[in-house]
Amino acid sequence: MTDGSSVSSARPLPGPPAAAALLADAAARAARLDSPPHLSIVRLGEDPASVSYVRGKDRKAREVGLQSTVYALPETTSQAELLALVVRLNADPTVNGILVQLPLPAHVSEQAVLHAIDPRKDVDGFHPVNVGELWAGRPVLAPCTPAGIMYMLGHYGIEVAGRRAVIVGRSHIVGRPLAAMLLNVHATVTVAHSRTPDLGAVTREADLLFAAVGRAHLITPDMVKPGATVIDVGINRVVGADGKGHLTGDVHPDVAAVAGALTPVPGGVGPLTIAQLLANTVTAAEMQSAACA
Ligand code: NAP
Repeated sequence: MTDGSSVSSARPLPGPPAAAALLADAAARAARLDSPPHLSIVRLGEDPASVSYVRGKDRKAREVGLQSTVYALPETTSQAELLALVVRLNADPTVNGILVQLPLPAHVSEQAVLHAIDPRKDVDGFHPVNVGELWAGRPVLAPCTPAGIMYMLGHYGIEVAGRRAVIVGRSHIVGRPLAAMLLNVHATVTVAHSRTPDLGAVTREADLLFAAVGRAHLITPDMVKPGATVIDVGINRVVGADGKGHLTGDVHPDVAAVAGALTPVPGGVGPLTIAQLLANTVTAAEMQSAACA
């Protein structure tokens, strides 16, 4: 292995052009509606990552012509108070999408809150009705990171049907819904996790390899089939040789010498997540408008 300066052969798959195309499409669809789709974002407390994510979502929503309202509630907000707000937003016909930023403080049950959101306004796609629809092959509002990945594959013309897909990671926000989405478009799907023995033997089977683990450089070149498309979902903060913190993925940089195509970190999957959230908000508004017509 090298220090990451090896000659790269993999085709880079940058996120920003794909995200821009998805946002342009969402903005065009939004413009055809009677009023701008309205996203309500709720956060509790001042966790710096959550504050930053919510600010980014709010800003991008406005940039593409959506209406956005942020409810920044104190950390001490009770579960009953949060549920009352969700009920109010569910009933408000001017609100098309509801997003409660996770994680929530320990005294609030994420499950109780996510289950309280009207599935038709569930732009994160975490409500059990939407999870069930996705696994039944009828996705409507689907989780943003995997849906954004699927958009990216289409944007770059990467074949999925009939190919072997391996996902490392089985979380509810990435690995599991991604498995359903790949299955729905006819990939043969394997999901690996921390209890998978001989992970490399599994990942080497993949024409399409997805790493959604949160372990820096877990996927090394010897674990990748030559020519495979590798999608790196991981975002890991590490300290470099220069002593400074920076972001890196779950995939070792030397994989570029083996893979056929590879997403960078940062600048790969990340931008697709917010773009897909806004696309979901437009979808929710379109469905609600059609239901009223
Ligand atoms: P998570 O909930 O922590 O799940 C991690 C998964 O990786 C689990 O299924 C775990 O297995 C598996 N795992 C852990 N160690 C492993 C190992 N050594 N070998 C094989 N599998 C292993 O993580 P997540 O929320 O899905 O996030 C994963 C990564 O993606 C993180 O770096 C996160 O920051 C990033 N992410 C990025 C975006 C984006 O927009 N780009 C969005 C979401 C997440 P078990 O189930 O057995 O514990």
